Amino acid sequence: GRGVAMVTAVAARLAAHRRLLEETLAPFQLNTKQLEAVQVQMREAMAKGLRGETSSLRMLPTYVRATPDGSERGDFLALDLGGTNFRVLLVRLTEGGVQIINQVYSIPECVAQGSGQQLFDHIVDCIVDFQQRQGLSGQSLPLGFTFSFPCKQVGLDQGILLSWTKGFNASDCEGHDVVHLLREAIKRRQAVELNVVAIVNDTVGTMMSCGYEDPRCEMGLIVGTGTNACYMEELQNVVDVAGESGQMCINMEWGAFGDDGSLGMLSTCFDTSVDQASINPGKQRFEKMISGMYLGEIVRHILLHLTSVGVLFRGQQTQCLQTRDIFKTKFLSEIESDSLALRQVRTILEDLGLPLTSDDALMVLEVCQAVSRRAAQLCGAGVAAVVEKIRENRGLEELTVSVGVDGTLYKLHPHFSSLVTATVQELAPRCKVIFLQSEDGSGKGAALVTAVACRLAQKTRV
Ligand code: BGC
Ligand code: MG
Repeated sequence: GRGVAMVTAVAARLAAHRRLLEETLAPFQLNTKQLEAVQVQMREAMAKGLRGETSSLRMLPTYVRATPDGSERGDFLALDLGGTNFRVLLVRLTEGGVQIINQVYSIPECVAQGSGQQLFDHIVDCIVDFQQRQGLSGQSLPLGFTFSFPCKQVGLDQGILLSWTKGFNASDCEGHDVVHLLREAIKRRQAVELNVVAIVNDTVGTMMSCGYEDPRCEMGLIVGTGTNACYMEELQNVVDVAGESGQMCINMEWGAFGDDGSLGMLSTCFDTSVDQASINPGKQRFEKMISGMYLGEIVRHILLHLTSVGVLFRGQQTQCLQTRDIFKTKFLSEIESDSLALRQVRTILEDLGLPLTSDDALMVLEVCQAVSRRAAQLCGAGVAAVVEKIRENRGLEELTVSVGVDGTLYKLHPHFSSLVTATVQELAPRCKVIFLQSEDGSGKGAALVTAVACRLAQKTRV
């Protein structure tokens, strides 16, 4: 009778919702063919970038020519700008191991997006504070600056900022040498003396810090606020740098992959919305599909859409869900963590004030899974392209290589790392890839780059 009719109506509505959900998420499900295509495009863009041709991959020389040999010693200062936090560090490389003391400082958004002078003055203020606290005032320890943005380097201690990424947009910095900007700020402050030896991308620092323990580490990978990779390339393949023998670490700046439109086929309307609402539309398109700064936003845009078609939250739009960055990427990690399962989804959504049913909770989980899975697979396709390049460079049938990894998304998400590994295995079957999680790559790595540079400088002096 009526009861049966009602049950049938509810079942039909649920089936319709499910269909809409599946339609919405279908473009996020990439098959092997599509991932192979990404890998091939990445290889082509790498080749072009190395040859100095126009390419969305800038393939920037870093002037780091060797991974560490474990003999590096000394006390170093390091700065780490461009991730979740700004940090000043004291790194001691000793016989008995590495000691790190670090202090976290916040960079308010108004400083990150204010004037360049203000930003660098703030950085110097933090260094002064750190030196005072640690009793280091008056010493000028060699300093390595981990600066996690694309820089055109012409030497180890010179890097011209090509463009800001992530949440940064300080004026009058792009096109300028970052070390010079720092030295100018030091002059303005007068109170300090600093000896800036090297500017280091975080990927390079990560590779170096893992390389200290494992000489097979020839690639660095970051999946945090932003994403990027570096690897050891044969110098003869790098047209921008003289010299035919030996190697140099190349900062790929793979976050910009696809900025020439080549990822268009994979990009969904949600990716377009996230890109358009960002402070750098059209830029860092690969990064915006992968890294922590953006995954929560992709999810939020999908949830908005599913609400508007009546599938979620009883079709009721809320102010909350319209708020930019309200859905943190760490929610994806929490929601997808198996042990907490749907209970976690409920808590998070209820905290956000979203009126939810148990169907809603399940669907939100599925949205998160689709978004983070695609991110991990795209990242894996990139890693596959790089390790295959290294293998071919060496003319090897099979290659064993280690990759140093850092970044909150990679480290905290419950499934991200295993999906990257699985994708690399599938796309680069002739490479045995070992992923090493770096511990404080930005600090330790910057110190190692600085240490190697100091050692080489001493050699040439005598
Ligand atoms: C920057 C890279 C950096 C990466 C990870 C990107 O936005 O362009 O230089 O390595 O983020 O921090
Ligand atoms: Mg970092």
